[in-house]
Amino acid sequence: KKIIITIDGWSSCGKSTLAKQLAKELNYVYIDSGAMYRAITLYFLRNHVDWTKHKAVEEALRKITLDFRYNEHSNQSEMYLNDENVEYVIRDLVVAEKVSDVAAVKEVRQFAVKQQQMMGEKKGIVMDGRDIGTVVFPKAALKIFMTADNAIRVERRFKELYDKNPNVTIDEVKNNLEMRDYIDSHRDISPLRQAEDAIVLDNTNLTMKQQLEIALRWAKE
Ligand code: C5P
Repeated sequence: KKIIITIDGWSSCGKSTLAKQLAKELNYVYIDSGAMYRAITLYFLRNHVDWTKHKAVEEALRKITLDFRYNEHSNQSEMYLNDENVEYVIRDLVVAEKVSDVAAVKEVRQFAVKQQQMMGEKKGIVMDGRDIGTVVFPKAALKIFMTADNAIRVERRFKELYDKNPNVTIDEVKNNLEMRDYIDSHRDISPLRQAEDAIVLDNTNLTMKQQLEIALRWAKE
């Protein structure tokens, strides 16, 4: 029987890495909810949308179409914003600097959550984010809440970003993670929270393989 698996947690805990592998093992669809907030943020930045103004946000959202398309070369599904592949640009620090502010806007969340819930109608999905187990799929059969030591999270994200842009500094990455975690857990609407029925997975001292084994065991219980 196919289920819905949610993975929430702090920024850069390895949620998407685990979610992708879990989906692959179970033959499920992986959905990166953060990519949707990042794509909306990219659109707002490019088009100078003032996200503190409700009307401007509503108008802009009407012009945004988001979808995930499978890419056989990278063997993963990638984020498309109005038919443009934005999977790589949305990982940029420029987007990461603003995404938590944009994701705290009510209309933006309603827009994203509605689409996420529609994607869940198929079942057999693994979705990662901040409010997936609490708000998007409160009835999900398996909810995982991931954490890891701060230093490890900074190091992992720094390596990822440094590969693409050697100008990035550890401090920039550290500040960005701390800022996002703060805003994400303090906003009024759907703040980052551990669902009551979520199981905690602290991967500070776990290899990828160990995490996957644990999660697979939970998925089969
Ligand atoms: O998962 P990722 O780090 O790519 O998410 C980027 C940002 O999008 C988060 O810091 C958060 O502000 C927002 N987000 C959210 N709710 C989700 C997923 C992401 O608010 N379900």
